[in-house]
Amino acid sequence: MKFVSTRSIDGEKFSASEAILKGLAPDGGLFIPESMPGSIPGFTLDGGAWYAMYTAMRPFFEGDELEGDLERICRSAFDFPVAFHSGDGHDTLELFYGPTAAFKDFGARFLAYSMETLLARRGEDLTILVATSGDTGGAVASAFHGRQHLSVKVLFPKGRVAERQRRQLTGWDGNVESYEVEGSFDDCQKMVKDAFMDPDLKGLSSANSINLGRLLPQYAYYVWASNMYYELYGKKPVVIIPSGNVGNSTGAYWAKAAGAPIERIVLAVNANRTIPDYLESGEYRPRQSVETLANAMDVGAPSNMERLFALFPSYDEFRSNVSSWSVSDDDIKRTIKEEWEENRHIICPHTACGERVRRDHFADSPTIVVATAHPAKFESIVEPIIGKTIAIPRSLFDIMHRESRSKEIAADYHLLF
Ligand SMILES: *Cc1c(COP(=O)(O)O)cnc(C)c1O
Repeated sequence: MKFVSTRSIDGEKFSASEAILKGLAPDGGLFIPESMPGSIPGFTLDGGAWYAMYTAMRPFFEGDELEGDLERICRSAFDFPVAFHSGDGHDTLELFYGPTAAFKDFGARFLAYSMETLLARRGEDLTILVATSGDTGGAVASAFHGRQHLSVKVLFPKGRVAERQRRQLTGWDGNVESYEVEGSFDDCQKMVKDAFMDPDLKGLSSANSINLGRLLPQYAYYVWASNMYYELYGKKPVVIIPSGNVGNSTGAYWAKAAGAPIERIVLAVNANRTIPDYLESGEYRPRQSVETLANAMDVGAPSNMERLFALFPSYDEFRSNVSSWSVSDDDIKRTIKEEWEENRHIICPHTACGERVRRDHFADSPTIVVATAHPAKFESIVEPIIGKTIAIPRSLFDIMHRESRSKEIAADYHLLF
């Protein structure tokens, strides 16, 4: 299996390992499979979720340098549960049992173990730079902590991240350093960009959500989940995914293309309406994001859209494969309340977008709503709505109680080295 750039589908081909180490294709495009496998030979549900994910990913690593390492990498990376909250066919897929309590743990951990293996073989070291306004930085810091041949510098804007998020960014030692930057998130991002442009700095890399190594696990859990669902109910589910940069949903489209039993994929977005507006008007207009209660989805120019456009190049193809609805902050609050009062089920603001779309548009269909984060991560929003304290998962508790370490610096990338 080889991978090509979204910007030159007939151009140069890369192995999975090359794509993982490069992050972005040389022409600035995103890596996609040269062709989707129409089926997944050897996929099995026997052996548990991590093993199923391993068998789902195997075709993408056929002939790759990581082929012989893949089973061990999957076992190490996916060493936490993935579960259904059952609702009689209206099920919720809980992807938040990893160390930072959001689905990004799957991709970040797989990427960290894959890079570690590749670098060890090459005898090379890499420094990962991450600018973060919240969720991504924590998942990356946690995933790369303790990995050999890799160090991480996490940059976040001072005073502008929530306390629990700050803990997840600063509770590290050893190969993970965090920097509290005097400036905005944009300043942090600019520092990272400037560092990458500096010809004197070598061995820098990123771990952002467009990396193929973060996407493939997101494909694999949809193969697992849809097959589990089909086995249980004998029906193909509509899969409703709270979306921002559409990396998680791109994984689902790859799973469907590889023959996973999925009826339809639906993108639930917050007040950032770029995708629903495109579906309505036929005109794609990326824009500035607006702030919402589901802040990990505050994206106006989704970075993985190039991958969806590569799958569905014309507007007609896009429209017949993609559905999307926008959910307002008021509806997020209302849905958290209804789900608690009717089902005693606590959901985070992102998951609430998915649940709203299910209630409004798919009430009578077999559905999976994807729960992207644990509600305890967003307790300041959720607790006042349900009038109850949310029990914090063990993994988050552990991070919260580590010693916090960070350096305060001015917004100048030279101070990082
Ligand atoms: C990152 C994130 C999302 C959005 O996922 P994308 O892949 O960017 O579409 C949704 N919910 C939570 C909790 C997240 O952390």
